[in-house]
Amino acid sequence: MSATRRLVILGATGTVGIQTLRILEQTDSPLQIVALSAHDRGEELISLSQPLKGAHTFLTSDPEQNARLLAFLRSGDYEVCLNAVVGAAGLPYSEAVLTAGRDLALANKESLVLAGELLTRLARATGAEILPVDSEHAAIHQCLLGADPTAVRRLYLTASGGALRDLPLNQLAEVMPERALDHPNWDMGPRITVDSATMMNKALEVIEACHLFHMPAEQVSVLVHRQSVIHSMVEFVDGSMLAQMGPPDMAFPILYALHYPERRPAPLQGFDPQLFASLTLTEPDPQRYPALALGFDAARRGGVAGAVLNAADEVAVAAFLEGDLRFPEITDLCASVLRSIPENMPADTMDDILAADFWAREQAHEALSALQA
Ligand code: MG
Repeated sequence: MSATRRLVILGATGTVGIQTLRILEQTDSPLQIVALSAHDRGEELISLSQPLKGAHTFLTSDPEQNARLLAFLRSGDYEVCLNAVVGAAGLPYSEAVLTAGRDLALANKESLVLAGELLTRLARATGAEILPVDSEHAAIHQCLLGADPTAVRRLYLTASGGALRDLPLNQLAEVMPERALDHPNWDMGPRITVDSATMMNKALEVIEACHLFHMPAEQVSVLVHRQSVIHSMVEFVDGSMLAQMGPPDMAFPILYALHYPERRPAPLQGFDPQLFASLTLTEPDPQRYPALALGFDAARRGGVAGAVLNAADEVAVAAFLEGDLRFPEITDLCASVLRSIPENMPADTMDDILAADFWAREQAHEALSALQA
C-alpha cells in the first residue's frame, strides 16, 4: 500500500480540475486533497470542497486569499500540486511550487511557454519534478522513461487539426465562435479549443516540449493525426520509434502525472485497436495553420518570445470570442506582435517575463483598436 501523498489542485472549477476530482473519486488513490483554488467561482469551489474533509480553499480573485495561497504553496506542506489554472495567470503558482521543491503536475502549459528556462532551472535546483498534464507531453514523457537523453533524435507532437480542419480555406474568415468551439475529439475549455482550431495550441506545445525535454526546435515535428489516438512519438538515434496511445481523455495524463512514478489501477478502458484500424499522420498545411510557424519561430528565438506569443494569443482569442476579431486575424495579430519585440528585451528574471507579458498585451490591444478603427 502506498503512503498518502497530499495533493493541491489549482483551478479546481475548470475543465481539468473537475475531471481530476471526478477520476480520483473513482480510483483507489493514495492522494489526499488538502487544498483547492478557483479564481472567482466561490460557490462551486465550496461545493467541490465539501466532501473533502478539512481541505483549504482559496479564491484567487481576492488578493488576500491569493497571497495566502502563494504562501501555502511556498511552505511545501504537500507533496504534489496540480496547476490547472488557465493562461499566464498560472505562472506565479508554478514558481511557488518549484521553489518549495514539490512536484508540479502541470496542466498550465503557459508556465513553460512564458518562463521555461527559469522554471526548469529552478526545478533542477530544488529537486522538484515537472510532470506534464498535456496529452502530447505526457506521451513523450512515457516514451522517454529509462531512455538516455542523448539517444533521442526527434520528438513528434500529434495534432487533431481542430474544429475547422475540413472547412474550405476561403470560409475561415466567416467562422463564428460556436463553430470554432466544436472540437471533434477533445472536450476542453474555450481558449484551448479555439487554439486547437488555429493550431496555436500546438505552436505553444512546441515551445513547451523544447523546455520540458531540453530539445532544440529543429528536433521537434508536428503531424496532423485526426483520430487523436497516438498522443505523440519519440524517434531514437537508431531509428526506432515509440508512440504512446490511448483514447482522447485527459483522465490518462492526469492519473499518470499525479501518481508518477507509480501506475495505479483505474476504471478506464484502453482504445480498441480494431475500431481504429486506420490511423493517419500527415504534415500540417501551413496555409490552414499559419500559427504553427510562429511557435517554431518563438521556440528558436527563446527569451521573451514565448511570453509575447502567448499574451498576444490570449488577447486575440478573447476578442474573437467576443465577436471583435475574425478567425484568421487571431494569428495575424499574434504575428504582428511577435514581429515587433524590441531587441534585447530582458528575460533573466520572473519580473522580466511578466513585463514582456504586459508589454505584449498592450501591443495586442493597440493592434486590435487599429483594426477596429
Ligand atoms: Mg495538448
